[in-house]
Amino acid sequence: MDKTDFPVYRGRMEYMCLGCGSRYPYDNLLYACPECGEVFLLENLAFPRLREYDGAYWRALFDARAASRNTALRGVFRYYELLAPMLEEKDIVYLGEGHTPVVEAAPALRGAVGLDFAYKNDGQNPSASFKDRGMACAFSYLKWLCRHHKWDEVLTICASTGDTSAAAALYAAYVGPPLKSVVLLPKGKVTPQQISQPLGSGAAVLELPGVFDDCMKVVEHLAEHYNVALLNSKNAWRILGQESWAYETAQWYGWNVDELCVFVPIGNAGNITAIMAGFLKLKALGVITALPRIFGVQSEHADPVYRYYAVPREQRRWEPVSVRASVAQAAMIGNPVSFPRVRILAERFIAEGGEEAFQVIQVAEQQIMDAMIKANRHGHIACTQGGECLAGLENALALGLVGGGERALLNATAHSLKFSGFQDMYFNDSFPPEYGVKPDKSLANSPRELLSESTRAGKSDGEYARAAALALAERLHLRPK
Ligand SMILES: *Cc1c(COP(=O)(O)O)cnc(C)c1O
Ligand SMILES: [Zn+2]
Repeated sequence: MDKTDFPVYRGRMEYMCLGCGSRYPYDNLLYACPECGEVFLLENLAFPRLREYDGAYWRALFDARAASRNTALRGVFRYYELLAPMLEEKDIVYLGEGHTPVVEAAPALRGAVGLDFAYKNDGQNPSASFKDRGMACAFSYLKWLCRHHKWDEVLTICASTGDTSAAAALYAAYVGPPLKSVVLLPKGKVTPQQISQPLGSGAAVLELPGVFDDCMKVVEHLAEHYNVALLNSKNAWRILGQESWAYETAQWYGWNVDELCVFVPIGNAGNITAIMAGFLKLKALGVITALPRIFGVQSEHADPVYRYYAVPREQRRWEPVSVRASVAQAAMIGNPVSFPRVRILAERFIAEGGEEAFQVIQVAEQQIMDAMIKANRHGHIACTQGGECLAGLENALALGLVGGGERALLNATAHSLKFSGFQDMYFNDSFPPEYGVKPDKSLANSPRELLSESTRAGKSDGEYARAAALALAERLHLRPK
C-alpha cells in the first residue's frame, strides 16, 4: 500500500468517564457521564494493535504523509490513527488547519529573554486560532453522525470567549446542511474581530450579559435537555483534534522533544489536556522516547488551576474562582470544564516524566501586555495569550524552573489581529482600571498625518505626490543622493 493512501486500520472508540470509569459507545454525542456527571476522554480500544508496529514505522509514515496531496490526510488527520480512526475518508473536513509554523524567536528577543525559544503560530489556522484543530475533528465526527443516523437537521451550539465561536461557525458554514450554527457570547467580552467572524459565516450570534462561565452554564443546560450538538471542549472529539498540536510539535523537532519546555495558556483547559494526551500517546507508541515538560500559564485574574497546583499535594482542593478583567480574554475562565482532565493527565505526565514534567505558572496582566508588545515588535504575531506564554517563560526563568540546555516552545494560540484592541489600549494608555495595566509610553505608536486634506486643492496628481514625497523626506530627515 502507498503510504499516503487513506489507511485501512479502524479503531474502536469509546467514551471513558473520568469520574466513575463507565464506558459508552461512540455512536452518540455525549458530553458528561449519565452516571456521575463527569467529563469524558475518548479511548481507542484497538490502540494496542498500533503497537504491533514500532516507533520508526510511525515516524516514517507520518513523515511520508507530510508530502501527501490527499486533503483528508493533509491537516490534523495526518495522524489519523491517533485521532478518530473510525471516520471514513469522505467524513473528513479540511479547511487548511494544522501544520502551523514554528518560528524561532528573533535574535534580539532571544537575547533579551536569555533562553532559546520559538513560537508555534496557531493563529495561522483558518479562523486564526488553534480551535480549528478541534473543530476539524468534531465536525468530521458530526458528518459521520449525520450519515450514520440519517439526521436531517443538527443545531451546533457553543459558548465562547470568541475563538470557539469563530471556528465553530466557520466549519458549520463550510459543511452546510444539515448543520446550523448558533453561538453564545458574553456581551462586551469578545473582541470586534472575533464577533465579525461568526457573523460573516452566517451563524446565529447571541449575546448574554455576564462572563464566559455564565454562557457555559446555559449551553450545558441546553445540551442536557435539548437535541443540540455542543462544540465546547467539553465535547471530547475536540480534544482529539487538538492533540495534533503535540504530534506536529514532535514531528517538527525530528521526534525528539527531550529538553523541550512547552508553554500553554490555560482557559477552559481543553488545550493543555489535549497537548498532554497527545504527547503521552506518542510515547506509548514509541514514536518519542521522552516527554517534553509542560508549563500551563494563567493570569492572576483567572487562575484556578494555578491555585490548585500552587500548594503541596495533600492540601490541594479544587475551587473555581471569580474572574477579573483580563487581557488574556480568551482564557478568562474561572471554572474550567476540563479541569478533571488536567488533573488526571498531569498525574500520568508526572508518572512518566517526573515531578517537574507538569507545572502551572502565574503571570500578571502587566507582564502579559508587556510581553505581547515586546514579541510583536520583534516580528512575531502573538495574541495576548501568546504574550501570556512569553510572560510565563520569563517567570519560569526567574524562578529557576527552566534552563540548563533546555529550549522553550510557546503556543501563540491566536493571531495578534484578533486582539488589536488591547494593543490600542496599550499605545493610547486607555486601559480601564480593572485591568491594572500601565503601558511603557516609549513604545506607543500611532499613525501621523503627512499632509493635511487642504494641501491637495489645485494640485495635479503628480504635484500632490511630489509635495507628499518632499514632506516625507523632511519628516525622515533624508539626505538627497
Ligand atoms: C480558547 C483559547 C485559549 C484557552 O484554551 P483552553 O483550551 O480553553 O484552555 C487560549 N488562547 C486562545 C487564543 C483561545 O482561543
Ligand atoms: Zn461517570
